[in-house]
Amino acid sequence: MLEIKNLKKYFKIQNPFQTHKNILCAVDGVSLKVLHGETLGLVGESGCGKTTLGKSILRLIEPSSGEIFFEGTNILNISERELKKIRVQMQMIFQNPYASLNPRIRIGEAIGEILEIHKLCENKMIYEKVVHLLEIVGLQKEDYYKYPHEFSGGQRQRICIARAIASTPKFIVADEPVSSLDVLIQAQIIKLLFELQEKFNLSYLFISHDLRIVEQICNRVAVMYLGKIIEEGINLSQTALHPYTKALISAVPKGVPGARLNRIRLQGDPPSPFDFPKGCRFHPRCYIKNEICTNSEPSLREIEPCHYVSCHLIQ
Ligand code: SF4
Repeated sequence: MLEIKNLKKYFKIQNPFQTHKNILCAVDGVSLKVLHGETLGLVGESGCGKTTLGKSILRLIEPSSGEIFFEGTNILNISERELKKIRVQMQMIFQNPYASLNPRIRIGEAIGEILEIHKLCENKMIYEKVVHLLEIVGLQKEDYYKYPHEFSGGQRQRICIARAIASTPKFIVADEPVSSLDVLIQAQIIKLLFELQEKFNLSYLFISHDLRIVEQICNRVAVMYLGKIIEEGINLSQTALHPYTKALISAVPKGVPGARLNRIRLQGDPPSPFDFPKGCRFHPRCYIKNEICTNSEPSLREIEPCHYVSCHLIQ
């Protein structure tokens, strides 16, 4: 379905106290694949580049370099017209359902404009199609004429999902779709995403900082640290090898009252994305590092089938 190769996104930031521009490396050479009907989880701390990666894949922001193949077509090498056609098949669900809806537009119109813009059905059919989409996501026909403020957070996320599936896409980037919702609503939205995946054979890139959620719903998980993928595999809570992934997993609550949390506490904050340390980017916080880690940067290697790790000390 989707393959990205060595994708980079750098931002030039002007500091008012300096004459030169600083380069912020948000995404720094990421390669990933998402298969048909699969959910790939992408986890990492805030600021590691997850959202920038998701937006770059959809070309909502232009990548600095790399390749993005969607069903075999490199979407970085196509015209605006061709891109518009492919965009119909690639959609995004944003993190904040409050901010992603225009408060002055009735939700029926907000969903219908997707059909109108992409000319996906005749104008006289838009109402019926939108009502059908509302029902698919668990809302009602009467909701068509309501404004976003008349809905709860979970319902607004359902509206955003209806907008995302309006063009019957094949691939959706879901950027922290449940992080602003309470636990019960989170479960309902995740169930809805699962149902839609089965119904429409959707592929998801599911971005989250919550490894607990990602492990439950994703076929594979990629862990991102400072713009790079440092581990990728199946069932990482049992098989993790990279010290950073292990630290993330150790921080997940066990869900059993009184259960002992053998937490690995990382020292310090992640280094500045303007100025990465030499060698392994994780070395200032790594609890097993040795000399080689400060001199040379490890590459992502396949340690066992379908399990990739970027660490000098993991063989
Ligand atoms: Fe830690 Fe070295 Fe592995 Fe980096 S390469 S994760 S510093 S052991």
